[in-house]
Amino acid sequence: MTVNSAVNGAAGDALGGHPPGGTAARQARELLERERRTHIAELGLLEGESAPDEAVMARRGTLQSNLEEIDAALARLDDGTYGRCEDCRKPVPEGRLEIIPYARRCVVCQQRRR
Ligand SMILES: [Zn+2]
Repeated sequence: MTVNSAVNGAAGDALGGHPPGGTAARQARELLERERRTHIAELGLLEGESAPDEAVMARRGTLQSNLEEIDAALARLDDGTYGRCEDCRKPVPEGRLEIIPYARRCVVCQQRRR
């Protein structure tokens, strides 16, 4: 048993709100897959630039790292840890997940890292 599961126990798991196969998980997956498609489409456009400037290169980098985050979020949906802050293990607020569906942390923990 890990420290986190010892602290949170079964009650903590019930707070996640995104059990695999549930409605919330399905909606999150749809959102992530839509994000994934738009990211890939934009990346494809940017990769077609023959002489990319700095802004294009920066945008490409952002899109690529977002795509990695989206894939990681999809993996978390599969293992049932999606929607839980990686640091404090509390549920990430729905409003935040709607804006950044691949968010790993709650706002407080994310700001602490900056
Ligand atoms: Zn947190």
